[in-house]
Amino acid sequence: MNEHNEPAQDPVEPAREGDTKEESPEQSCCHRPGCYERFTPAPQSPHQKYCSLECYNAMRTVLIREERWRKRLQKKAGPNDAFE
Ligand SMILES: [Zn+2]
Repeated sequence: MNEHNEPAQDPVEPAREGDTKEESPEQSCCHRPGCYERFTPAPQSPHQKYCSLECYNAMRTVLIREERWRKRLQKKAGPNDAFE
């Protein structure tokens, strides 16, 4: 198969100055530490923080663990049986 069907360059578009690498302003950087993947958030979730489900799940696991820790510390710190 000879697929030489590339669309002609838009003649209206001016020549690019410098190398902008087509960085769209809508792109976000992954919030997972150590992962600096850039991604474009899906239209249905514009506030997406992670590049992939893998990063999202990894961070969620960490957050849940942290929350558990905090609760445990709070339990230790305050005499919560006074309200029972
Ligand atoms: Zn990521």
